[in-house]
Amino acid sequence: MFEHLKAKPADPILRLMQEFREDSHPQKVDLGVGVYKDEQGHTPLMQAVDRAQRILVESELTKSYIGPPGSPLFNDQITQLVLGNGLATKLKERLAVAQTPGGCGALRMAAEFIKSCQPTARVWVSDPTWANHVPLLGGAGLPLETYPYYDQQTGGVRFDAMMETLKKSARAGDLVLLHGCCHNPSGADLNSKQWQEITEFCLDKGVVPFVDMAYQGLGQGLNEDALGVRYLFNAVPEALLATSCSKNFGLYRERTGALMLLSAKAEQTPATASELFTRIRSHYSMPPAHGASVVETILMNSQLAELWQSELNAMRKRIQTLRLQLNQGLKARGVDRDFSFIERQQGMFSFLGISPEQVNQLRKDFSIYMVESSRINLAGLSAHNLDYVCDGIASILKG
Ligand code: PMP
Repeated sequence: MFEHLKAKPADPILRLMQEFREDSHPQKVDLGVGVYKDEQGHTPLMQAVDRAQRILVESELTKSYIGPPGSPLFNDQITQLVLGNGLATKLKERLAVAQTPGGCGALRMAAEFIKSCQPTARVWVSDPTWANHVPLLGGAGLPLETYPYYDQQTGGVRFDAMMETLKKSARAGDLVLLHGCCHNPSGADLNSKQWQEITEFCLDKGVVPFVDMAYQGLGQGLNEDALGVRYLFNAVPEALLATSCSKNFGLYRERTGALMLLSAKAEQTPATASELFTRIRSHYSMPPAHGASVVETILMNSQLAELWQSELNAMRKRIQTLRLQLNQGLKARGVDRDFSFIERQQGMFSFLGISPEQVNQLRKDFSIYMVESSRINLAGLSAHNLDYVCDGIASILKG
């Protein structure tokens, strides 16, 4: 039964990682892979996570099943983190929450949930969006449509074009997928006025907002990054939100995330929750426990929570500083293109805005690696390689 299968082409980012590993250039730089890195190029185990794990090893008494919704304590804590205490309390009776295997698990379960309650719904995604949105949402059988988003000229959002498309073509019952903060791949985020306009639009048109929040705390701050989402959730009748602890807790491989479903009325919540938990049961049955136990241990302990926040702040500040240094470094080398958008964007990613040929040239001549679209992970930069990277970019732009 397997004979007819053909190997699929390697995922471009995995191929890039492989090439990077095999490259013997002493100054090689990886700006491709989407994980946070410190000055030494490591993706560190956060100290708060390390301490929480030690507490868990000492205190954990069972590895018994945790059930499809996961840990209720984690679900409460993560809801408070995303929505803030006031709004989380206000919406409590209208929210169904499940701990999921990462943000990916949350996105896929959201898609399965949508498919089962609104089979004709389409999901509107930004152009461009995170590449994995396509298989995660489309794989559940949902048709995807795109709305204009990234403006190559300004490095900002094509907000008028976005709204025009949505107003013209989105139907009541469709979903609009919004990146909560730190848009991946572009780094271009909506401002608060734009969040308000989208909220108005969803209310007017009966379009359901679906937020992917994978980088809370890596843009402007834990609360600042969630303001748009909070405004939206406070106003709309129904909404979905997928969140991830991969980046802000550095828990990548522990597969820790959550899905929140907001129902229009509290009486609806038990049925919404039941549908969600049934979907989960028929996919992976229940989530892994460890990552969520780490997160709840941190958030329930004020000292650990403080330590975690200070570590997260340091990560965010490092990225912000690298954004400034990259723009200034390019300017100082007399590059005539304006890269100031890199300073205005948020989170780990930005497009350099160079051609695939120039991306190739950077890899061949300088062993500087990035994906073909010229998306770079700012956290791959450091004091050790910043001048080298600026020299390389300046050289291919001038040459
Ligand atoms: N959404 C976006 C936009 C992402 O970039 C990521 C992580 N790269 C995720 C969701 C989910 O990641 P994970 O499943 O590792 O939590």
